[in-house]
Amino acid sequence: MGKDLLIGSHVAMNGPEYYLGSVKEAISYQANALMFYTGAPQNSFRKPLAELRIPEGRALLKESNIDENNIFVHAPYIINAANAGKPELLKLSINTIVGELQRTAGFGVKTLILHPGNHLDAEEDFALQTLAKSLDTIFETDGTQVKIALETMAGKGSEIGKTFESIRRIIDLCKYPERLGVCLDTCHLHDGGYDVDNIDALLQDFDHIIGLDRLLVIHLNDSKNPRGAHKDRHDNLGYGHIGFATLCKIANHPLLKKIPKILETPYFNEKAPYAIEIQMLRDEKFIDGWREKL
Ligand code: FE
Ligand code: FE
Ligand code: ZN
Repeated sequence: MGKDLLIGSHVAMNGPEYYLGSVKEAISYQANALMFYTGAPQNSFRKPLAELRIPEGRALLKESNIDENNIFVHAPYIINAANAGKPELLKLSINTIVGELQRTAGFGVKTLILHPGNHLDAEEDFALQTLAKSLDTIFETDGTQVKIALETMAGKGSEIGKTFESIRRIIDLCKYPERLGVCLDTCHLHDGGYDVDNIDALLQDFDHIIGLDRLLVIHLNDSKNPRGAHKDRHDNLGYGHIGFATLCKIANHPLLKKIPKILETPYFNEKAPYAIEIQMLRDEKFIDGWREKL
């Protein structure tokens, strides 16, 4: 069962190899899925696509039988299209997302993952309405078919989108719901108060409120904090409060078979943990003390 798992991790995209290097990194982990930022996650400065060695990266994907449906771009996380405080800042966030959708299309990737944003000093529902309006503008401007996967959040600070109901509300308010999907992050769900160990009930709840057909990708992370902590600090598989058994059960859940899983777990001793984390999920077997042996 674990053998045909669709699994990968966040990978870097740095010079001189850029996208070619990202794909090589994923292959070095034996991944068949991956996620990357098209520039620094903390800002919206972006190198022109022509410099990013995209054709070479795509050729290597093809050669390696990695389906581009299993690749995801993550939008920079500083943008806030739900309430930027000032109209000019909101416009900047909207423009950045339009640019990211166009860049995502330029990689041949079909899904952009977006944090819904922060309500700051506004009412939460007003922020959900603002985001839906921003998304309307974005989808009327970008000229692509790329979908946005709204990521469920931990509820840190004034983050919106920590409940299935709030994600449903955004989808309902948006004029182009066909362009919206969802990214479930196990650390965020757990920190937001959901019991991820009870995955059957959680998926039933998700299906009832949003619909399983909207689920496009799963971020598989352990959490450094107890359930409901609203902290959002990822941990390595088996080292946090969720635990390996639960994460492995989610990774290999029959209802989630076609959904790619992406690891966003931290480096340990400056080493990437992904090759071993992927192997353990495929084998459905935890290796005691694996992180210390990296
Ligand atoms: Fe994220
Ligand atoms: Fe995530
Ligand atoms: Zn997170």
